[in-house]
Order: sequence, then C-alpha cells, then structure tokens
Amino acid sequence: MSTENNNAPAAALPSNFLRAIIDADLAAGNYAQRQDGDGQPLPQVITRFPPEPNGYLHIGHAKSICLNFGLARDYGGRAHLRFDDTNPTKEEQEYVDTIIDSVKWLGFDWENGGKEHLYYASDYFDQLYAMAEYLITSGHAYVDSQSADDMAANRGNFGEAGKNSPFRERSADESLQLFRRMKAGEFEDGAHILRAKIDMASPNMNMRDPAIYRIRHAHHHRTGDQWCIYPMYDYTHPISDALENITHSICTLEFQDHRPFYDWVLERLAEGGFLQRPLPRQYEFARLNVTYVITSKRKLRQLIEEGIVDGWDDPRMPTIVGMRRRGFTPESLQLFCERTGVSKSDGWIDMSAFEGCLREDLDPKAPRATAVLRPLKLIIDNFPAGETIECASPVHPHFPERGMRTFPISNTLWIEADDFMEVPSKGYFRLFPGNKVRLRYGYVVECTGCDKDADGKVIAVHCNYFADSKSGSEGSANYKVKGNIHWVSAAHAVEAEVRLYDRLFTDPNPDSGGKDFKLSLNPNAKQVVSAYLEPGMINAQAEQRYQFERHGYFIADRIDSKPGKPVFNRIVTLKDSWGK
Ligand code: ATP
Ligand code: MG
Repeated sequence: MSTENNNAPAAALPSNFLRAIIDADLAAGNYAQRQDGDGQPLPQVITRFPPEPNGYLHIGHAKSICLNFGLARDYGGRAHLRFDDTNPTKEEQEYVDTIIDSVKWLGFDWENGGKEHLYYASDYFDQLYAMAEYLITSGHAYVDSQSADDMAANRGNFGEAGKNSPFRERSADESLQLFRRMKAGEFEDGAHILRAKIDMASPNMNMRDPAIYRIRHAHHHRTGDQWCIYPMYDYTHPISDALENITHSICTLEFQDHRPFYDWVLERLAEGGFLQRPLPRQYEFARLNVTYVITSKRKLRQLIEEGIVDGWDDPRMPTIVGMRRRGFTPESLQLFCERTGVSKSDGWIDMSAFEGCLREDLDPKAPRATAVLRPLKLIIDNFPAGETIECASPVHPHFPERGMRTFPISNTLWIEADDFMEVPSKGYFRLFPGNKVRLRYGYVVECTGCDKDADGKVIAVHCNYFADSKSGSEGSANYKVKGNIHWVSAAHAVEAEVRLYDRLFTDPNPDSGGKDFKLSLNPNAKQVVSAYLEPGMINAQAEQRYQFERHGYFIADRIDSKPGKPVFNRIVTLKDSWGK
C-alpha cells in the first residue's frame, strides 16, 4: 500500500518569496524572544486569515486559507481565524458560521498549545477606542467636521495634492471632546469623522489623513447597540494583528498601498506604549484568478438572484460550499493552492490545473462503480430468461486488498446509447451488427441487430453471448475483441438522478475587462439524466465519492441523496475533454 503510507517523509516544500522571508526572520531570530500574557514562549510564525463575515468564501479565499494555515503548519507556528467585523451593516452571524465550517472543511483548525485561536476584531473595540483617544491627545488624529462632499473634494487626486481640512488644526482637547460625544451618540451618521493626521499632500492617497472612526448608528451582530462609532478596516487591521502577536500579515496585492498606513498606525501605538515590538509586518501576494471562474461577491449574488444557479452551494459555484457539494476534495484544493505557489504579479491559473489535482487525489481513493448515463436496452437472446449469473470486479484495480464488488448479469441489460451504432463510423469498434465486444467483467457478445420505434429510433439492441467467454475464466482468453463496454442488469439496476456538471462559462475570462459574464454562460453546465447504476449503489452514503468507470468521478449529493435513493453529481470527467 505504498501510495497510502502516511509516514512517508514529506516532499521538500517548494520555496516561494514568503517562505524566504520567514526563513530569514527565523535565521535572524526576529520573533524569537516573545512571550504571551502567561509567560509562555510564542511561536515565531503566527499568521491569520481575516475574512469579513459578509458573504460566502470562494476559491480565492481557499488560496489565502491554505497559504496562511499552511505556512503556520509547515513552520510549527499557528494561524488565527479572525473575523474582521467592523462594518455592522453588512455582516451577519450566518456568514460567521459558514466561514468557520468552510475553513474546517478545508482541513484546518485554529487550536494551538491547548487554546482556540478564533478571534473577532469586535472584541478589540474597547482597546481600539482607547488607542484612538491616545492618537488624538498625542496630536496624531483629529475630528474632522467637513461635509462628505467637501472631504472628497479636498482629498485631491493622483496628480493633485489634497487640501488640509479647516478643522485639522483644532485643539487636541476639542477633538477629544467631540470624539467622546460621537461615542455617546450625540451626532448623526456622517456629522464628524476621526482622521489620522499624516499628510494631505502625500503621493499615496491612503496617507492623506485617512479616516479612523466613523459614526454609524447600526446594530452589530456581536456587540449589539453598544457602539454607534465603528473603527475603519485599515485602522483595525494592523492593531488586531499586533494584539494577536501576528508575525507575518499576508494579504493580496491591492493592499500594497495601504502598507504605509499599516506601519504608521503600529509605530504610533508602539511609541505610545500600547503595542510591543517586534511589530507584525504586512506582505502582499497576487490574488488567485482561475479561468472560467468569477469570484466577485456581487456577480455571484447576481447569478443566484437571476436564477442562473440554485444558491450559494450550487455545485457550479466557486464558493467553498458549492465546491464541497460538487464533490471537490479539501486535499485537491490544498494541492492546487500549494502547486500554484505565491507570486507578486497577477495572472490567471487554468481551471484544468485544478481538475488535474482533483483527478490525482481521487484516482487512488475512489472506489469504482458502473453507471449507465444514457441508457439503451441490450437483449441477450440466447441467455436463459429469468436466470442470473454473478459477475465480480475489483473495488479498485490498483488495490486488490480493497476487495471485489459483485453484480448479476441477466438477459436484459442497460448499456450506453453511444456504445451502439447501426451503421458504424470509421474506427468504431463497439456494438454494431456482426461485431463482437466484451461486456466488462462479463461475457463476450455478438451483436445481431436492433429494434426501432415508428420514428426509426433505436429502442433495443440484440445480441448473443458466448457462455465460455466469462471474464476471468479459462475460455475468456480465446476471445480477442477490441471493444469493452459497461452495462448493468435492467432488473437489478438502481435508477438514480445524475447531474452532469461542467464549467459555468465558455469564456476563460468571463468578466475581465468589464465583459458581461452573462454572455458566456455555458448552457450545458448542468445536465440532469436518469441513470442506471450497479445494484450495490443503493447503499451509497451522502458525500461518498466514486469513479463511474469510463465516465469520471461522482459524489452522492450531500443534500438530495437519501438512503436507498441516491442522487449523484459529476465532480469531473476522467480526462480533460474541454474544448475537444
Ligand atoms: P470584499 O470585497 O468584501 O473585501 P474579499 O473577497 O476581499 O471581499 P475578505 O473577507 O476581505 O473578502 O477576504 C479575506 C481574505 O481573503 C483577505 O485577506 C483577502 O486578501 C483574501 N482573498 C480574497 N480573495 C482572494 C483571492 N482571489 N486570492 C487570494 N486571496 C484572496
Ligand atoms: Mg476584502
């Protein structure tokens, strides 16, 4: 069982720029001397995955999860799951729950040293507030009372410096009083805002006195109505990282221009004695873009609202809940995220690379089974009516120790409609009148003709079998046939709904350059067929995966599959046949 040996030494980890940074930090001992509140030494690598609980996670988030949790695992550190829940109007408990489920399903947890490292930025609201007061009293922040329009106009733009707010030089004391009154609920939303005092002429727009706190009379999913001012993401994020002793704060490239403010916040608060050095550092990598996939939350929601897909967990969706339902495995997603590496420039990864990882993961694991997806009747005229003979085949051809599965053959079978051609095309070697094929794990048969309905449509195929040709018997060697087709006995087959899923779009970059992704919807992304499965499949458990021989990998749908009445989803075909 060599391929199943978990004790094999791990393959050398591919290097990337993040690993190089961590290696250098370890060599220099940059995070070596730290202790937590209880005096316990802290790991030298602490990363975090910081989702905003405002939607379902998708394949891009999976990349970030695998990266952060994977680095922590590989370096013997730890990774935190932290909800960046500072925007009360968009966040809900439903999303917190699905995010927790999705990270766990991907194979990660946040337990380390006997502690759960699940955090909420909202747990830091008191500290964030106290630090904001410090920034005011130390002259690093002020309450601005300009209208939103004036504030926008005075911000300038890329070519033009901004203008200082007329409130910028108000005294620290006045700002502090106003800030406290903001907190006390004395003002309407938007009446005042707390801003960092940095540089309105900075070439980096993010350094032009960015907002730190805003008034928002809104109910928060965790803190309720306790607060009516909420800290901004760019202010909360570095502080949350520092409070959690994060070492490497990894985010996507669009945050590169936010890094100077990230460092500014940490420096000011370290000077003020609120945070301890060494401080966390932010590093950016290119987000994952996969061909034939869109990940914009707004566009995914549109697919649902317009009825193009059936919900967040529709197997065509790139959400983690959708990919799970489709039958994608956590291992294949981890493998894919590992293989695609980390880069500093944006690009597209081909969907077929992911499908390759899926096949690689599923092939050794998935038990084999027979399914006839487009059934046509095959009648063996010389097979005794009412009789059955047992046939057997391995559960997995490469792992004989997994045993055999058995199924009967009888005089009436289901075969794939395209395994018969009345008039064969060139090179066709399956069933046609006068030709012999092997019924897999059964007998060699010779086709004698077919029955047609009034419209000339073939409704049944006839053949005779050779009683001494059974697979595995001595006589079988005497029969040399080119075709080898699968079948199930009609009287014993399990009838099942099978959903054949494929890529949702026909354009590899469905929404790039402002394209309307609805113009490239793949009309064949979901086809539902009524199939016949081998008898043992009556016992298929929800979420059990199989290889249906000659077809691909399938999973019993986790929602719709019921005991005794399985429903299957196609995960991926056996070979990459896209566009061929
Ligand atoms: P929003 O537009 O609501 O901010 P988001 O997709 O950025 O959406 P977050 O909850 O902020 O959602 O993301 C959590 C983390 O996942 C962030 O660190 C973000 O950088 C990362 N992430 C999001 N999309 C991708 C992607 N395509 N590739 C890699 N990482 C991603
Ligand atoms: Mg985001």
